[in-house]
Amino acid sequence: MINRRKFLSVSSIAGASVLLAKDSFAGLPALETFIITGNPIVISTWDFGIAANAAAWEVLKKNGRALDAVEQGVHVPEADPKNRSVGYGGNPDRDGKVTLDACIMDEFGNCGSVAALEHIMHPISVARKVMEKTPHVMLVGEGALQFALEQGFQKINLLTKESEEAWKKWLKTAKYEPVINIENKSFSPKKLPGNQYNHDTIGMLAMDAKGNLSGACTTSGMAYKMHGRVGDSPIIGAGLYVDNEIGGATSTGVGEEVIRNVGSFLVVELMRQGYPPEEACKEAVMRIIKRKPDTAKEIQVGFLALNKKGEYGAYAIQQGFSYAVCNAANQELLVKGKSYY
Ligand code: ASP
Repeated sequence: MINRRKFLSVSSIAGASVLLAKDSFAGLPALETFIITGNPIVISTWDFGIAANAAAWEVLKKNGRALDAVEQGVHVPEADPKNRSVGYGGNPDRDGKVTLDACIMDEFGNCGSVAALEHIMHPISVARKVMEKTPHVMLVGEGALQFALEQGFQKINLLTKESEEAWKKWLKTAKYEPVINIENKSFSPKKLPGNQYNHDTIGMLAMDAKGNLSGACTTSGMAYKMHGRVGDSPIIGAGLYVDNEIGGATSTGVGEEVIRNVGSFLVVELMRQGYPPEEACKEAVMRIIKRKPDTAKEIQVGFLALNKKGEYGAYAIQQGFSYAVCNAANQELLVKGKSYY
């Protein structure tokens, strides 16, 4: 019998997802039994998706709305100073400023987004306010901050001592160089802990008990980017897309390549054509590889998708893309095995 908290490696087939033993489950509350009417599920990117899913599940298990679940879920990495690629404690840009990108989308096709937002712990909640309180979809920079403060968000310093020290060290060479983000140690050639990778995003997709879908995506973007650089994560259709009739998709990795291919929208459109989630993600990855094969070898881009039936899948350019899945039966971490490269 497989112990829910200690998954053993079950497969290493090329391209397959592998269940791994994961210490990070320790300390998380056991899944409780609630009377749930549908088949709620939440999935999210990377190892830190486990803790984020657990927070989202707190909403879903009470038959809460998927939109609330994804917002609550991504709050966890946003507030975690040890997470150096999302929210508070995120790596700064080359000028030492932590600028955050985030977007959110609900079951009605409503969406909100903020880009290059400074000084706010939870950009996802500002994005939700943009969606709910303004006639706009996206606010950026100073305007986004002004709006956040008007809405009562607190102004804080997002640059932690650790991130500042790392940035000062980087300034000695000042070479902008995305490190392929393979968080999971089993696949990482460099054996770096997750928080040392210089880019990552939490993209989260949830289906609630009513069968409604929502998604959220939030990041501090590429470490040491140019000031003002915006990635894919706050761009509806690139970093996130949700169509309540079909499914949702989200992305992580070098955002420029995702934007060029309108990645998440593409994944959802492929699912509309009948592709299963993993196949849709694979096709979106292949478009990136086909368009820029030399660039693709050196970078990571991963897509994660959930369809209306609750089926999910992922695909990435490089092996080692991990994603977390949580439903009434399980919470688990899956890691993509050998992919294209
Ligand atoms: N997609 C993010 C960006 O380009 C970074 C990442 O997910 O690794 O800003």
